[in-house]
Parts: sequence; C-alpha cells; structure tokens
Amino acid sequence: MFSKILIANRGEIALRVQRACRELGIATVAVHSTADAEAMHVRLADETVCIGPPQARESYLNMPAILTAALITGAEAIHPGYGFLSENAGFAEMVEAHGLVFIGPSPTHVRMMGDKITAKTTMAALGVPLVPGSAGEVPDLRMARSVAETVGYPVLIKAAAGGGGRGMKVAYDPASLEEAFLLARTEAAAAFGNDAVYMEKYLDRPRHIELQILGDNHGNVVHFGERDCSLQRRHQKLLEEAGSPAITAAARDALGETAVAALQRFGYRNAGTLEFLYQDGQFAFIEMNTRLQVEHPVTEMVSNVDLVREQIRISAGEPLGYGQADISFSGHAIECRITAEDPESFAPSPGLVGVFHPPGGLGVRIDSALYGGYRVPAHYDSLVAKLITHGRDRAEAIARMRRALEEFVITGVKTTIPLHRRILDDPTFMAGDYTIHWLERFVAQN
Ligand code: ADP
Repeated sequence: MFSKILIANRGEIALRVQRACRELGIATVAVHSTADAEAMHVRLADETVCIGPPQARESYLNMPAILTAALITGAEAIHPGYGFLSENAGFAEMVEAHGLVFIGPSPTHVRMMGDKITAKTTMAALGVPLVPGSAGEVPDLRMARSVAETVGYPVLIKAAAGGGGRGMKVAYDPASLEEAFLLARTEAAAAFGNDAVYMEKYLDRPRHIELQILGDNHGNVVHFGERDCSLQRRHQKLLEEAGSPAITAAARDALGETAVAALQRFGYRNAGTLEFLYQDGQFAFIEMNTRLQVEHPVTEMVSNVDLVREQIRISAGEPLGYGQADISFSGHAIECRITAEDPESFAPSPGLVGVFHPPGGLGVRIDSALYGGYRVPAHYDSLVAKLITHGRDRAEAIARMRRALEEFVITGVKTTIPLHRRILDDPTFMAGDYTIHWLERFVAQN
C-alpha cells in the first residue's frame, strides 16, 4: 500500500479522496492555487504545496507544477479526482514516466475513451448496443445530410472530444442542419481544440442511466449497479439516484453482464462509468468516463462500498478480493448537487459564506468543502455541496432529502437549494416518471 498520495484537485472531491486516504493510514499532499490558500482541502491535508495562480490553466491543470510537487514531497501516487487532469492521457503518461502511480485506468484506455468516436466503435465491436448514428466522424455537411436522412430527424451533432455538454447541437429538420453542424464544430474547436464531430439520432424521451464499474490489475471486473442521472439542465446533471426508478433488477443484471464482459475483454482497470440512454426498454451506449464521477456517493450508499478506497487499493496492485455475487444493494439513494448559483437565472454567485449549517441525522451525507467565513472563488466550478440521502426505499430517501433540504442553511452566496426543494415536491419527480428533457421544462415553467 502507498504511504503518501498527492491529490491533484480541490473542493469537495479533494476532501473526499483525503478521507479515504486517512482511513487507509495514507498521508496526503494537497496542491492548491493562490486563490485556495484558505480552502478546506488545504487545511486538512498533511502537507500542502502552492502550485500557481488562481487560473486553473496555471495551477490545477499545470502538469509540471503538480509533478514537481509530488516529487519533492515524496508522494508515490496521484489521485486526479474528477474534472481537471482526470481524463488527460498525457498527464497519466507523465505520472507513470516519473515512476509514480496514476490512480485511474491505463493511459491507453483514458485516451481511447476520451475520443467518443473510438469509444463507440470499440464498444460496438464488443457487442454493446449504440444510439443509431454516423459510423464515425462526420467531416462535412454532405455527409451530415446523408446520415440525418438515414437515421431520421431530429439529429444531434456531438463533439468527438466532448464533455460537459459542450459542442452538442440538435437539428430538428433539414433546414436547421447546416447551422447546427457549423455551430457544433465551432464550439468543439473552441472548447476542446478539436473540431471533429459525429452524429446520433436525438432521442425524444430517454433516461440517462449509467453503470459503475471497477476492475483490478488481475483481470477481475465487477459492476456496482446503475445510477439514474436523467435530471439535467443543459446536458449537465443536477440530481442523481441509485437505483433507477425506471429499470428492474433483471434489466440491471443483463446490462451489467454485457458491460462487464466488454471491459474484461480489453483489460480495463480501476473505476469507470459506462453511460447509456434508455428508451422503450433498450439501452444504447453514449460514452465512457474513465474516472470517479461526481455522483459516485449514491452508489456507495446503496452498496456500502467506499469506491475511492477501492480505487486506491486497485492502484496499489491489490486484487478486488470479491466477485459480482458478493455485491448487493440495499435501499435507495439520492444526491442533490448544490451549486453557488442563482436558483432561477443560474448566474454564478461566488463570495463570502456567512452561515454554513449542514443537515444531519440518519441516512444523510454531505460532501462539501464549505465552512462559514470561507470565500467561494469565482475561478472554478460552482459546485459547493453534494447532499446525499439514503432510505430503505425511494419514498424514504425522498422524505429524508426533503427534510435535509429544509434544514440546510447557507448564507452569503446564493445556492440552488430552493430549486432542489421544488423538484423534490413535484409529483412527476415523486412518481419517478421523468426523462432527460423534463427538468429543462420544469425550470422554464417554475
Ligand atoms: P458529455 O460528455 O458532454 O456529457 P454525453 O454524450 O455524455 O456528453 O451526453 C450528455 C447528455 O446529453 C446525456 O446525458 C443526454 O442527456 C444528452 N444526450 C446525449 N446524446 C443524446 C442523444 N442521442 N439523444 C438525446 N439526448 C442525448
């Protein structure tokens, strides 16, 4: 096992990784920008290194600075969290080239899945069903027209290097195809430095259902069931559940079997998530994330397994030590992503936190790096807390989430807590009867 790990991240996820390290008896190194000198992840780490100015490009994305911090502190491994460098294959390679361990999959798999076209062709070859669409890249408008004619409108144009919902445009009819195609390319080039796009049929009422996977370095791969992340705004998740209110245990097992078999065939290791759209009883793969996900706590609550601990054990070379039959699920979990944003306009609301009073009690978990007197910087993602509740069933998890949201007090910055309260009170949400398009309309109408 490692004796010291550097955590190349900030905020709640840096704390989350620190917690797993502490329980395993591993010392932690926090890196931080000058804007984060007072941050909780810095306060709680065993050692800290300032790696640059506030701009992420010069700090949390500054590979030489992070590697130097690891080398001078004698860390043996780097946990990248999510976002920042977590899906940067070049970074993973550099970490390995310096004799350190990257806590994640092999750089080859990070690169393979980072290109969503390669990811889809790889998965299709392994028998995983896809959303109908182009066979690969769509290089020009002529090809775009022909794909759209074949799969039928509406179609979605997506960036091959995409992430965070950027570089994605819908064309509802032939007249709007040209504009959508050009916009998607321009946005992809600006956001990812890569204007390659591909196309999919734009599904009208799917759910977003994803499967949590873990693989070790000894050929064992297991899944930890599904998460339903259909509640999204601008293709970004706001609230997640485990399990999905829409699928049966039998459907989960069948999907799990296909996915595990596929990942076993190409020797995947560490944590990964396969994302699917689910409509009319059919799953269709859209992408794979080769890292820990923001929403991993809902899986932890229903499986009672610390996924970060597992990531660290796997990277240290330990075998999983259990098989699929040993993994079982209990109850239901919900996560609300609370951001420092205006709950109506979604304008960012950085600033000084006054009161921070988190809820507690049975079945309530808070993953947050906030504290009273902390200044939320304007430079980073606006996620400030994840509120997770667990209950024996979905109704109990919802009841707990409602009362936890009532108890939660954050002053000084605006947050999306009022929006979550409204969602939790909505009959459609309560019935579990929503698709990926529901929240966008709910937000517009309320
Ligand atoms: P990103 O990597 O940018 O998050 P994804 O491919 O994971 O992009 O898609 C993000 C979200 O966009 C999905 O969860 C879903 O809500 C929506 N989406 C993606 N593909 C389709 C599709 N073919 N039809 C309808 N919605 C889609």
